[in-house]
Amino acid sequence: MTALVWYRNDLRARDHQGLSAALGSGQPVRAVYLLSPGQWDRHQVAPIRRWYVLSSLRELGETLGKLGIPLDIVPCETFDEAPEVLATYCRSHQIKALYCTREYPLNELRRDRAVADALRPLGVTLQGYDDAVVVPPRALKTGQGTPYTVFTPYRRRWDACLAEAPPTMPAPPKRPAGAAPVAFDVGVLDKHERLLDLPDTLTRLWQPGEKAARQQLQHFVSDRLGHYRRDRDFPALPGTSLLSTALSAGTISPLRCVVLARASLAEGGKTGADKEGAHKEGVSTWLSEIAWRDFYRQIMANFPHLAWGAPFRPETGFVQWSRDEALFQAWCEGRTGYPLVDAAMRQLNSTGWMHNRLRMVSAMFLSKNLFIDWRWGESYFMQQLMDGDFAANNGGWQWSASTGTDAAPYFRVFSPVRQSERFDPDGTFIRSQVPELRDLPGKQIHQPWKSPLLAAAYPAPIVPLDGVRERVTAAFKAAKQIHDAAGASS
Ligand SMILES: Cc1cc2nc3c(=O)[nH]c(=O)nc-3n(C[C@H](O)[C@H](O)[C@H](O)COP(=O)(O)OP(=O)(O)OC[C@H]3O[C@@H](n4cnc5c(N)ncnc54)[C@H](O)[C@@H]3O)c2cc1C
Repeated sequence: MTALVWYRNDLRARDHQGLSAALGSGQPVRAVYLLSPGQWDRHQVAPIRRWYVLSSLRELGETLGKLGIPLDIVPCETFDEAPEVLATYCRSHQIKALYCTREYPLNELRRDRAVADALRPLGVTLQGYDDAVVVPPRALKTGQGTPYTVFTPYRRRWDACLAEAPPTMPAPPKRPAGAAPVAFDVGVLDKHERLLDLPDTLTRLWQPGEKAARQQLQHFVSDRLGHYRRDRDFPALPGTSLLSTALSAGTISPLRCVVLARASLAEGGKTGADKEGAHKEGVSTWLSEIAWRDFYRQIMANFPHLAWGAPFRPETGFVQWSRDEALFQAWCEGRTGYPLVDAAMRQLNSTGWMHNRLRMVSAMFLSKNLFIDWRWGESYFMQQLMDGDFAANNGGWQWSASTGTDAAPYFRVFSPVRQSERFDPDGTFIRSQVPELRDLPGKQIHQPWKSPLLAAAYPAPIVPLDGVRERVTAAFKAAKQIHDAAGASS
């Protein structure tokens, strides 16, 4: 009999409970990855993310091969076929136990239920582990026994959890006695990578795989974490970890992030003049971001209707969003006439990644200034982002559009000019992304329409800035009235 590890968005060998359990079972171990380009299409997975996954699988196959574990890449067009494909695989390899890392979005939950149903008659047990998060989604409840829907109290409980049971790093997996290394066949990965046909100029920007992710974390913790709180909001600075893709594809575990960040507290950190204080603040602020990641995953797990495109706050389902395709297109292409928004969108389009401050600015601009349906933006981000992750993306978009879990209501509107002046004060980031504005001196970069030097190639603002708050407030009030009236008459 053989144990099987079913890999999904957990493309690593270290700190992987499913793999450890399979190795600990004393049975020979195999691993499988279902390659599902049709499902990637359905989920609008960006080409650069597909590349990251394929390249990371290549490394994983080699790593597992050294442990004596063959990794099979098995075609499975969509999730619908997964039960049949896995049942056939289990039959032909005498599998009796399947181990995996749990996933929480609705389609993934349904897939896993269907797989369990298909494998039960074959006598195959399915064992899942919550390695994609630090704290499992249903572990924390409010005093009323309901899921948390506000971040601050959630974070307090999350911290208490870590304090009660401080996480530690599991030992790296070892090749079982008697198992010989096996070769990994990269043929199918090569074929799919060729189909993507991405330019080297794009893929050269990124390092896929578990080893690179671990190194990046190490580097971030020892060199940058001490400045994280100070630098993280400035897109011109290398202030954040850039680990979101690794975390979402699972080439690094959130557990490792937490353990290393907390361990660095003991050393006091090596960065910064005010070493200890700054480092402590950096760790706490960065752990908050990891907690936000868990928070949105538990929201996704506890409120599965979000997967149907529904807003978290039902009354906001009645907001009459604009469907202006020309304005949407200008936003997508970074031609809004607002330099920070345009620089953000061009960063996304040219690199597959966008800085968090800019995600908030550009999402807020689409949903508040252009008043375009946030789901259009959510979907565009998924099609471009290398770290595209349903829970975090949906959470970020609903936060920006004021339809989400956040306690603050719809009055939150960012001014793209004010954000630009605060977070890219000398325009370094804007100039790096928007060549038409490169020669505009000093502060003129934030409002180029006021400058006599404005290059003709750069557009005038596509919408005015005034009256946004009033229009948004009125539209949300109207939506609430429709919602309340519908409730009263039903
Ligand atoms: C509109 C919008 C869309 C977003 N879409 C995604 C997405 O598809 N995938 C994604 O991973 N993140 C998304 N985020 C969250 C955040 O912008 C990115 O995680 C972050 O920019 C990644 O950069 P980093 O790895 O350097 O982050 P760091 O600042 O180093 O943070 C460390 C890690 O914490 C997590 N994290 C940080 N901020 C958040 C957050 N607000 N919500 C959830 N997790 C967070 C990420 O895993 C990140 O890698 C979105 C945010 C917004 C506002």
